[in-house]
Amino acid sequence: MLVRECALCKKNKSLQNSHIYPKFLIRLCRVKDCNNKFIFMSDSNDIKIPPQDGPKVYLLCEECEGRFSKHECKYAGFFNNQLECVYSISEDLVLIKDFDYKSIRLFLLSILWRLSVTSIPNFKIELNNVDQEILRKALLSNNPLEPHEFPIATSRLHFDGESNNGLILSPKENKETVDVVIGGILYSFSKFRLDSQNLINYPLGKDKWYAKLVNVRDIKWLMNAIYNIDEI
Ligand SMILES: [Zn+2]
Repeated sequence: MLVRECALCKKNKSLQNSHIYPKFLIRLCRVKDCNNKFIFMSDSNDIKIPPQDGPKVYLLCEECEGRFSKHECKYAGFFNNQLECVYSISEDLVLIKDFDYKSIRLFLLSILWRLSVTSIPNFKIELNNVDQEILRKALLSNNPLEPHEFPIATSRLHFDGESNNGLILSPKENKETVDVVIGGILYSFSKFRLDSQNLINYPLGKDKWYAKLVNVRDIKWLMNAIYNIDEI
């Protein structure tokens, strides 16, 4: 039993071996018709290691792990039924309505936070200490924050019209954003809390959630990540 400070509640407790990317998504990505694709990207070398079960780290106590799994369950439920509330706006844009802003945001923000506190190479991203602490307190108190605080843009990826729910990539960190691909969806997280005056329509808002439909072939770094690797 490993007793250490839980990264979320800061209490000394027995820690769980937690997934960085939620387990249900990894399970989802392991279903037969999804190519079983799981890719590690690395800037430091070209070695891509196919993990068996997704990256894990001792991070959370049982209580905090349970807190996160609640959001994960809700997101998983939504993910499985999302077609019912997706409206086509144009050829490359959809609008999602009737979603639970609180649980979706808490789930996605928990991924951003987990990436910021992990020590696993290729998964660790940098958030400044103030923002990391704001995120931690928000997650601890089930506060999804406002849409402009760490805003999230969503792109549903496809390969010439065919989607691939099995696509997962380790995060790609840029100066101001972190790109995460899970379950065939590209989430682009802003690493900052933006000024609410500057942007009116956030891609993931409280009532409306806009998602782009993007061909993977149009994103160079994704193409490189996917096709310059050995498939598993
Ligand atoms: Zn805890």
